[in-house]
Amino acid sequence: MNDTNLQMWKRAVKVIPGGVNSPVRSFVSVGGTPYFVQRAKGAYVYDLNGRRYIDYVQSYGASILGHADSRVTVAVSRAAELGTTYGAPTEGEVLLAEEVVERVRSVEMVRLVSSGTEATMTALRLARGVTGRNKVVKFDGCYHGHSDQLLASAGSGVASLGLAGSVGVSANAVSDTLVVPYNQVPVLDDETACVIVEPVAANMGLIPPQEGFLSGLRRECDRVGALLIFDEVITGFRVAKGGVSDLFDVDADLYCFGKVMGGGLPIGALAGRSEIMRQLAPTGPVYQAGTLSGNPVATAAGLTVLRALDENSYSMLEGRSKYLAEGLEKVISEAGFDVQIHRFGPLLSIFFGDLTVTDYLSAKKSVALGAYPYFFHAMLQRGVALAPGPYEVMFPSLAHSWDDIELSVDLASAAANQAFTE
Ligand code: PMP
Repeated sequence: MNDTNLQMWKRAVKVIPGGVNSPVRSFVSVGGTPYFVQRAKGAYVYDLNGRRYIDYVQSYGASILGHADSRVTVAVSRAAELGTTYGAPTEGEVLLAEEVVERVRSVEMVRLVSSGTEATMTALRLARGVTGRNKVVKFDGCYHGHSDQLLASAGSGVASLGLAGSVGVSANAVSDTLVVPYNQVPVLDDETACVIVEPVAANMGLIPPQEGFLSGLRRECDRVGALLIFDEVITGFRVAKGGVSDLFDVDADLYCFGKVMGGGLPIGALAGRSEIMRQLAPTGPVYQAGTLSGNPVATAAGLTVLRALDENSYSMLEGRSKYLAEGLEKVISEAGFDVQIHRFGPLLSIFFGDLTVTDYLSAKKSVALGAYPYFFHAMLQRGVALAPGPYEVMFPSLAHSWDDIELSVDLASAAANQAFTE
């Protein structure tokens, strides 16, 4: 067979390290070689061989309306025709910041950046600048981008590649980073600048916060005068209109956003109360900058997406995701395998085995059973694209119709029977 994906893969590995521009896209943890995307529309991606997949990767959560939504593509081309970057402020930046302020209840100001990594990196600098302290507390298995100081015991690709952190990160860079288990409120001291957390963890599979975890973090931060940072790069504008604070009634001091709010273009944001945000340059002493920050094409796409998301969108997404989660759990169990589908709103992930998964340690035990790669490939063969890593979550989009969801469950039944009887 003339496999165009394979031919492209052979060219890719010669000129791009590992053939991919982000390690999570490679198939190292599931085996085999990746499909190359030629185009995408709605719930589907099409590879270079012209094969269609029902796509649950959705750019790892950057796409919520589905691929190439016409409202977004029109906004993007209109914006691009007016110029793709200026190096001067634009109305789009103000409109997007206003939209975020309007949605997230404790946010008064927003600084736009170009990625989630930049948002979390800046959040830490700002927290240190504001408190005059150095220590940062993060949770085992939470991923906050690839800046040195946060690349300690992270989830996602770092987890599936089996790296504790990364070579090239000096001991000094992480010496002020303390890593503690998820879902347990740590006892802080008065050297702590901030606690950064994925309020719903989505980079070690999907692990929701247990009752009292987030409110406990809030209380403990207040007790010692540390800032609480919610990294909502995945959850922001996906789990609810105003993010997790709407659902748990806990406010952070700083929020990091990305993905959904860029409508599929590079964006990130740091947001919080004015008294803290004003400490950023040029009004304050904490420096941060970016040539492409607040890029007009990205803000146009992001604004279009946020404006398209209303309460109805969230209940639609939730309904379909619930059906998908229950369906997957049923058919995989019927195939004779212990499985738990974790779900929080529209986010879900598959944990094999019967162990209760509440943190990174238990997630790793489930992954160690080794079932995910078999199920992943059996699904891919049938035209359903899951992320090629056991620690990633599934991202159903608003473009996934009931038919797509039902078909996915049917195909999962066949896939599970193949994967686990072989
Ligand atoms: N924080 C979280 C919770 C993430 O999931 C990610 C990326 N998956 C990041 C930060 C980093 O974002 P980016 O890849 O845009 O740098």
